Amino acid sequence: MPGLPPKITDTSRPFWEALDRDEVVLQQCSTCHRLIFYPRIHCPHCYSQNLTWTRVAEQPVLLTWAKSEMPVSPIYSHLAPITLIVADYAGAHVPSTLIDTPQDRVKIGMRLEPAFDRDSYEGFTLLRFRAG
Ligand SMILES: [Zn+2]
Repeated sequence: MPGLPPKITDTSRPFWEALDRDEVVLQQCSTCHRLIFYPRIHCPHCYSQNLTWTRVAEQPVLLTWAKSEMPVSPIYSHLAPITLIVADYAGAHVPSTLIDTPQDRVKIGMRLEPAFDRDSYEGFTLLRFRAG
């Protein structure tokens, strides 16, 4: 198993468990109603600790992307080149990678669909995206 597996905490556990069910859940602030990513114990917008988990069924859009020819570490060299992205779920920005999408189709604002990757790390489901 190459690379480093995700570190799951009590705070992030619902996110990872949802990926195992082919679902994306994000925290939502009950005070200002914004979606939040990454999982945390308070809202980064209004500092409320009144957060709930909500399933997001809508397709996110591509906020930004970059093609990386060099891996961030030699342990990821088998993945290069890789398309690094930020998926925008109504203001919640989820960093990830784009798969199964030719580079000439990549456009800022394009719809994305989640891809649930169970192959990269045994015992973990990673959230990647492809063109939606
Ligand atoms: Zn808030």
